[in-house]
Amino acid sequence: MAVQKTKRDFPLDRIRNIGIIAHIDAGKTTTTERILFYTGKTYKIGDIDEGTTVTDWMDQERERGITIVSAAVTTFWKDTRINLIDTPGHVDFTAEVERSLRVLDGGVIVLDSSSGVQSQTETVWRQANKYKVPLIAFANKMDVIGADFLGTIQSARDRLGANAVAYNLPIGKENEFKGVVDLLTKKAFIWEGDDTGAKFIETEVPTQMVDQVKQAREKLVEEISGTDDVLMEKYLGGQEISVDELKKALRKAVIDNKIVPVLAGSSLRNKGVQPMLDSVVEYLPSPQDIAEKADPTAPLAALAFKIQVDPHVGKLTFIRVYSGSLKSGSYVYNSTKQIKERVGRLLLMHANDREEIDEALAGEIVAAVGLKDTVTGDTLCDEVAPIILESISFPDPVISLAIEPKTKSDQEKLGYSLQRLSEEDPTFRVKSDPETGQTIIAGMGELQLEVLVDRMKREFKVEANVGQPQVAYKETITKPAEGEGKYIRQTGGRGQYGHCLLKIEPLPRGQGREFVSEIVGGAIPREFIPPIEKGVIEKEDTGILAGYPVTDIKVTVYDGSFHDVDSSEIAFKIAASLGLSEAAKKADMILLEPIMKVEVTTPEEFLGEIIGDLSSKRAQILSSESRGNARVVIALVPLAEMHGYATAIRSMSQGRATYYMEADHYEPVPANITAKIVESSGFTGRVER
Ligand code: GDP
Repeated sequence: MAVQKTKRDFPLDRIRNIGIIAHIDAGKTTTTERILFYTGKTYKIGDIDEGTTVTDWMDQERERGITIVSAAVTTFWKDTRINLIDTPGHVDFTAEVERSLRVLDGGVIVLDSSSGVQSQTETVWRQANKYKVPLIAFANKMDVIGADFLGTIQSARDRLGANAVAYNLPIGKENEFKGVVDLLTKKAFIWEGDDTGAKFIETEVPTQMVDQVKQAREKLVEEISGTDDVLMEKYLGGQEISVDELKKALRKAVIDNKIVPVLAGSSLRNKGVQPMLDSVVEYLPSPQDIAEKADPTAPLAALAFKIQVDPHVGKLTFIRVYSGSLKSGSYVYNSTKQIKERVGRLLLMHANDREEIDEALAGEIVAAVGLKDTVTGDTLCDEVAPIILESISFPDPVISLAIEPKTKSDQEKLGYSLQRLSEEDPTFRVKSDPETGQTIIAGMGELQLEVLVDRMKREFKVEANVGQPQVAYKETITKPAEGEGKYIRQTGGRGQYGHCLLKIEPLPRGQGREFVSEIVGGAIPREFIPPIEKGVIEKEDTGILAGYPVTDIKVTVYDGSFHDVDSSEIAFKIAASLGLSEAAKKADMILLEPIMKVEVTTPEEFLGEIIGDLSSKRAQILSSESRGNARVVIALVPLAEMHGYATAIRSMSQGRATYYMEADHYEPVPANITAKIVESSGFTGRVER
């Protein structure tokens, strides 16, 4: 075994970097709050104010309406350090969910036992699978009327294809829900009362549940044995398998994504949370179970996964250390940006306190103060052993809006605030419209932009007029074409001479852009190729048909000419831009629009009207099925048609239908609509000369 030179107060196998994953309203906030409550009780942080109990602190937090204030909170349970990494619930922030999934080792997925698996749960589950995040599931809201534990597990199996298996069973349900039976140990736990302080006592399995427990245990043991050859043999041979053996095999099966154990509970009624925490420690992986080399003595490799502005200490950069160690006051190399940065202080963020540490080791998560230029997705490493960790990919924004500051001082504050906000949220983009000079912000959904505008006004005190949300269309070509760009000016003195021939071809959808030079034999000197590429990219950004960025296009410069004296970078840049315009206009340009996947849940009686309305929105209805006593409609609808849908659906259903949507893909805009967009864009499709 390697000698560990660096001191670590918690051994690596007693660290859990986990996220609570849930769709909105399943109970993530309540569950997180309870976790912090129970874990905070068992561990006293250094200089915690003696007068403040955890409960007092929770009340204060609740008054202010916030719980997790930090992108990662460190807490402790059963001699294990648990780092809870925040994963946003709303789907507008899907990319943010992906970002956080990238750095955690395991997750607790919170399901709503009263409504089973919904579309949003499917989305977060799919994302967790993409990063192979081992999961345990917490079937919350067992106290709600209609709660159905086994039904929830079945819907997870059916809709998610997950090997979800009951790990414990609820004792009672709805108003009568009072505890759980642990299937492996056959111990029952009952909570006496509903409040956070409620004692939970260990007791016998209720007699009326004995058969049910036996059956469910059999199922669990069968599933666990199925993942382990030795146990399988014992199981088939009818031999007894010990609880320890089962737990060990289950741990491995969870880490290998073969089994998702499901635990029952009600966070609101303070029941079932402690057994879930036990399972986090028992079954979710430690950093060393995941990474091959979480070695603190190796060179540093770390990923910045979130930037957050803290009211007390300023800008915090949350970092996951994958190998080596990160020391406060040291210099690190940002290999993504190829710059050196100084790490100031390092902090562990606790729920109600922050703790300064000297060093963060492989496997740990820490917040750094003092990094200036590092943003989400950047790798920090040792300059002598540079490495770039797989960065986080973010989708292109689908919606944008214009912002106009009211005064000159607002203009300055606006720039600053948008800079800060986009540092925190990488799916949020800022640019200025070259035509109007307006500031445009873009993101993944109306809600996300609303929240950002609200923060800009509230936190940064910017007074501004905000435009209507606009769909982020894209332009593309549908056939190959060629174009000639000539920029020649002879007006006394030194002239301008740029000349190039371009060919363009469509690329498959989603492929983006490509630029190639096929110039050989010096038709255009080499130093003018980069300016040509620059001219092409600028034109692609500005748009040709209606002012939207051009995508899925390959541009090749294959010929041209130059002048010994008059040729310049700027002349070739302009020539390239003209050449691309000319070619594009011969290539049957079209517009692409974002298509959203929309899921509406409604009482049966409003179904007809809701489907009728969707159909009038160019929707393609994918399915309509019953779930419980509600109907669920899934459709693909162009984002352009969804403006104001929140209000519309409320009035169609007396406020009883709900919906959620996420960007699915881009598709060509129908010709008649394209014509209207082009007309109102002021772009006439003419070739500039
Ligand atoms: P989030 O949107 O996932 O963070 O969910 P919240 O924790 O904010 O919970 C959404 C709503 O469900 C709130 O009104 C909670 O009080 C309620 N809720 C959460 N957990 C439970 C539970 O176990 N039982 C019941 N009855 N309500 C719950």
